[in-house]
Amino acid sequence: MTSSPGRHRRRSRGLRLVLALVLLAGVLAVVVAVREVRDPGADPASAAASAPATTTPPTSAPPETTPAPTTPAPPPSTPAPPTFDRTQQSIDDPASLWVVVNKARPLSPIDSAPTDLVPISGLQLRAEAAQAMSDMLAAAAAEGLGISVQSAYRSYDYQVGLFSAQVARFGETRAEVQVARPGHSEHQTGLAADVGGGGCDIESCFGTTAEGQWVAANGARFGWVIRYPDGAQDVTGFKYEPWHVRYVGVPLATELQRTGVRTLEEFFGLPAAPGYPG
Ligand SMILES: [Zn+2]
Repeated sequence: MTSSPGRHRRRSRGLRLVLALVLLAGVLAVVVAVREVRDPGADPASAAASAPATTTPPTSAPPETTPAPTTPAPPPSTPAPPTFDRTQQSIDDPASLWVVVNKARPLSPIDSAPTDLVPISGLQLRAEAAQAMSDMLAAAAAEGLGISVQSAYRSYDYQVGLFSAQVARFGETRAEVQVARPGHSEHQTGLAADVGGGGCDIESCFGTTAEGQWVAANGARFGWVIRYPDGAQDVTGFKYEPWHVRYVGVPLATELQRTGVRTLEEFFGLPAAPGYPG
């Protein structure tokens, strides 16, 4: 078989052309690949356009678990001072340790008498008051102070006689400042006493003695209060009686001392009782 040089040349030219195209395609492919590596996604638009279909759309990130706004914890509550219940005992019942008797508040019934009187110093007081009096006098004696009980429970009938005698002796006006009418005396409750010492019994001078000052300062520890303080006659109806003590129990006595309220009338919000009504 003979070869024709013309055909051979044509075939070689075609082959070179194919090789050149293949080479050019290879170079183009390399250039494109290098660009992709050097600058991936440099053009967002083209990157998006060429993004493979498997690219998952950006899912919204799960919400950050921001802790719920915590309400600030309340500051540690400072305990309120215990409130004193002023209604825990009756101020009307003659048997109550808190009964308030004055010229506007007679005992009811007017001739009532306690049922638990016990003897003390030849006199009588209600049992709880008698014990508290003994304790108070013992505490004073331990400090070298001699205090004695001069008067304590007085019955309605006794008060009738006492008041009549005072009126006959001093006249009604002065008697009414010094002695309560029957049914209006704290002595009838069995919770009041007149004490003396330091050479002064049942006189205003008792307030200036060591004994009188000790009672005023320490009586509350035993449940006793000075019922008719100085300068409170317009409230209590009685002039200063530093010797007249009234048993109300330790809680109320110490509350009166703590608050500085001088009279039962003011503590319980009762009207002043400067005199007998009518
Ligand atoms: Zn008295």
